[in-house]
Amino acid sequence: MTDWKQLDETYLMPTYAHIKLPIAIDKGEGNYLYDVDGKKYLDLFTGLAVNILGHSHPKIVAALKDQGERFLHISNVYLNVPAIRLARRLSALTLKGKVFFANSGAEATEAAIKLLHKYRKKVAPDRRGVIVLKNGFHGRTLGALKLTRQPGVYQDFPVAAVDVLEVEPGNLEELDAALAERPLAVLLEPVLGSGGVIPLSDDYLREVEKRARAAGALVCIDEIQTGMGRTGKLFAYQHAGIEPDVILFAKGIGGGLPLGGIVARPEWSDLFGPGDHGTTFAPSPVACALGNAVLDVLLEDGLLDEAAETMKYFWEKLRQLKADCPAIGEIRGRGYMVGITTSFDADRVRRLRLDLLRDGFLIDVTQKTIIRLLPPLTLGKADIDRFIEALSARLNQMSKEG
Ligand SMILES: *Cc1c(COP(=O)(O)O)cnc(C)c1O
Repeated sequence: MTDWKQLDETYLMPTYAHIKLPIAIDKGEGNYLYDVDGKKYLDLFTGLAVNILGHSHPKIVAALKDQGERFLHISNVYLNVPAIRLARRLSALTLKGKVFFANSGAEATEAAIKLLHKYRKKVAPDRRGVIVLKNGFHGRTLGALKLTRQPGVYQDFPVAAVDVLEVEPGNLEELDAALAERPLAVLLEPVLGSGGVIPLSDDYLREVEKRARAAGALVCIDEIQTGMGRTGKLFAYQHAGIEPDVILFAKGIGGGLPLGGIVARPEWSDLFGPGDHGTTFAPSPVACALGNAVLDVLLEDGLLDEAAETMKYFWEKLRQLKADCPAIGEIRGRGYMVGITTSFDADRVRRLRLDLLRDGFLIDVTQKTIIRLLPPLTLGKADIDRFIEALSARLNQMSKEG
C-alpha cells in the first residue's frame, strides 16, 4: 500500500506538519469524508470553514459541471458573466456598493489595505494606520501578516509599512485611545476565529461602529471565516445591525474553490481606478458559478434559515455537554463556529483529536488547546447527537485517567 504520509514528508515543505492528521481522503459526500481505506468520518471542520454545504452537494456539482464544460478561465479582458452575477448579489445582500474579487482571504486583506491606501491618498491624507484586535487573524501574506496579531503566527518577515494600532477585543477605552490617533480604519473579525473562537458582542460591534464614525475612521469587517451563513446570518455583522464601510470575504464563498474579495459601500466603490489593482486568476468563472450555487442553496432553497434553527439545537446540546463534562471550561462562539476549552494540556487535546478521529469525527484544535468545531450548514440533528455523545465519552474517559 502506498505510504502517503512518508511521501508527504519527503516532497512537501513541513509548514503544516504540526496540524496534519495521518489520513488520506478518498472522497466526500454530504457531511462525511471517506479515507482511502473506506473509513467514514463526520466532517466538523469543513476544510477550515470552506465547505458550507458539505461535500459534493448536487447543486455545487451541477454548477461545476456546467461552468467547467463552458470555460475555466478567460482573464479580466472579457465580461465575466458568473462573476457579474455574483457581485450583483453580494452587493444587494450587503453594502450596495461594488466588489473586487481575489483568490483567497489573505488577498482580500491585501485588497482592503490597498483600498485604505487609496482612501488616504484621495480622501483623508492626514490619517494613517489601521486599528486591529489582539489575536486577530487576517492572513499570512506580507501586508495581511502585519494586521494579524497572534504570537503563534510567525512574524519575523520584512513586513510592509502598514501602521498598526492593536487593541484588546471588547475594550472600549483602548479603542477610544487608538481612535484618537486618527487612524484610517478599524478592521476586525466579528468572531475571532484562529485567535481562539472569541465572539464579540453585538453591543461591542455597535459601539465600535458608533465611535469609529464619530472619530472619522472607516469600519472594515473581516467576514472571511464568519461569512456565508456560518453564524446563522449571511454575514455575522448583520446580527448587530451595523453598516460597515468594507467587508472582506473568502473561505465559504467559492463553494470549495479559491475565491475571496471585498465589498465596499457606494461612496468607496470607485477609490480603485483602472490599473490600481488586479490579478490573473480572480474572479475565477468556475469559483463564481459555485458561489452563485452556494447563495441559491442558502437563500432560495432556505438552508440558511433551516441551519439557523439547527444551530439552536446544537447549542442546547453543547450546554448539556458542559453540564455532563467537568473537564470543560468554556464553550463559546456563535452558530457553527464553536470553541471549547478544557482543563487538558496541548498533548492531551492532541490525543483527544486522534481519539475522535478513530471514532469517525473530524474536529480542529486552535491555539494548541481550544477544540474548534466548524460544521457544515447541512448538519442534521442525528449527527449532532452522535457527535456530542462521542465527545462526552472521550472527555470523561480522559478525565478519569487523572
Ligand atoms: C482564513 C482567514 C483569513 C485568510 O484566508 P486565506 O484564504 O487562508 O488566505 C483571513 N481572515 C480570517 C478571519 C480567516 O479566517
